[in-house]
Amino acid sequence: MGRSTKQKDLIHKTLTNLKTHPTIKELYDEVKSKDNSLGQATVYRNINKLYENGLIRRIIDKDGTIRYDGDISYHGHLICEECNKLIDLDNLKLDINTIDDISRKNNCYIKSYDVIIRGLCSECLNKNKKEGQYGIKRNKDRTKFNDSFCWRKSSKK
Ligand SMILES: [Zn+2]
Ligand SMILES: [Zn+2]
Repeated sequence: MGRSTKQKDLIHKTLTNLKTHPTIKELYDEVKSKDNSLGQATVYRNINKLYENGLIRRIIDKDGTIRYDGDISYHGHLICEECNKLIDLDNLKLDINTIDDISRKNNCYIKSYDVIIRGLCSECLNKNKKEGQYGIKRNKDRTKFNDSFCWRKSSKK
């Protein structure tokens, strides 16, 4: 195995082991702690290559920063609008009928999709609950829920 393949494998493995959905900078710091000889350009080049080859995923976080995910099995993400944490959500799969339906209605071909849920992670929710800002009740009457980004439009005007 050549040096460049080894480098690519190390970068890929490091990302796969991280569950934090790191930015390129965070990933670079982590890789560098394992192999100090790796330069920033090498990490950037390899991460782009891995992405182009469909071996990793990209997600845009609340600040518009690209975050990387080594887990390419299908899952959606919750982006916490308070702490900017990205959390894996497994129960966000569209069934094949819905995908067919979308393709037919829009006359398009669907290759892949990402589901992003925005809100508060459980830690931030608990913190806010203590401060009395959010709560289950609030969620129910949806004063904080932005329907304009939602497929199910509220009937109330
Ligand atoms: Zn949070
Ligand atoms: Zn993920």
